[in-house]
Amino acid sequence: MRSEIPFIRPSFPAPAELALDFGEIVEANWYTNFGPKERRFSRALGDYLGSDVHVATFANGTLALIAAIRASIGTGGRDKYLLMPSFTFVAAAEAALWAGYRPWFIDIDHDTWQPSLSAARAALQSSRNDIAGIQLANIFGVGNLAIADWEQLAAEWGLPLVIDSAAGFGSEYATDARVGTRGHCEIFSFHATKPFAIGEGGALISRNPEIIEQANDFANFGFSKGRECVQLGMNAKMQELNAAIGLRQLVSFDQRLASRRAVFECYRAQLLGTELEFQPNAESSSLCFASVRCTSAEQKSSIMNSLFASQVQARDYYNPPQHLHPLFEANRELSRNTDLSTTLDLCSSIVSLPVHDHMDPGDLARVINAVRAGSR
Ligand SMILES: *Cc1c(COP(=O)(O)O)cnc(C)c1O
Repeated sequence: MRSEIPFIRPSFPAPAELALDFGEIVEANWYTNFGPKERRFSRALGDYLGSDVHVATFANGTLALIAAIRASIGTGGRDKYLLMPSFTFVAAAEAALWAGYRPWFIDIDHDTWQPSLSAARAALQSSRNDIAGIQLANIFGVGNLAIADWEQLAAEWGLPLVIDSAAGFGSEYATDARVGTRGHCEIFSFHATKPFAIGEGGALISRNPEIIEQANDFANFGFSKGRECVQLGMNAKMQELNAAIGLRQLVSFDQRLASRRAVFECYRAQLLGTELEFQPNAESSSLCFASVRCTSAEQKSSIMNSLFASQVQARDYYNPPQHLHPLFEANRELSRNTDLSTTLDLCSSIVSLPVHDHMDPGDLARVINAVRAGSR
């Protein structure tokens, strides 16, 4: 019997390599609290992303996002809103709430699947004084081609711009412009299911060293230089072992990224002639998976059924979108939203296909055949 093709297949360093790393950690007798591996890993992340950026690591991406909001926008009293798309992972709104803000869900753009600039502008024109910042998301980790317009919008309205690029480590906005370097700051998740994975982990990147310093203090109980708590902090530090995994993952990352992009190009080439659409700029992203938009909800369910019958795991991210999670449906006062019809439309027509670092040609053909069969 052929085996099921998993939606995500993480690749991790070999146990023997990690045994060496763990030996060094034990030798140094330093397991967490900005140890030598964490220091090296955060420098290596900065080097990877380009000159002129500063990096803080975190225990996970959600904590990096909370720290990013607090360091760039400040701590709220739940009376103001952060503009964000509903079409993203629900950790986005949860992070805003933990940082003292309520999410204001805006729609996405039909063509790019990215947050709608005109929706943000309309919200600002009607309610600028209720809005404390913009929490952009690079949807599916794909670099937003209009990032400069978002920076301009934020500057025009005097608002901080925090970018959730959780799955987008390795993605590009454009040639030689890596995701991670824009806005007031950006965050990544290194969760086991992301293309760049260390188990649990995250990072905050900024060109402003003060944001990074503040975020590091936040991650360490709000301690300042001494062991005095000067702000409401958290324990959000990355462990040495996770940093060691990250250092190993970085070595092979570009090669794995190229391989993921080849999988995507294969999907694109083999699905030409169907009416399925891919997200613009996905080809230069880290490709946590490959999403296609179907022509209708019926076609979507036909493709999902066909994939299931072929033992291919698929998903339909982000369905439900944030505002339809019970937390927000049952507690209307927690959020606001403007028209979300494009979001609902995409949710009803999207299928996300597996992308692995190394995909067997037979597996790839099985996914493509199932999609083609279901799309007819
Ligand atoms: C994965 C993800 C997160 C959460 O990151 P964790 O490391 O799991 O906390 C937040 N936002 C988006 C868009 C994500 O994809």
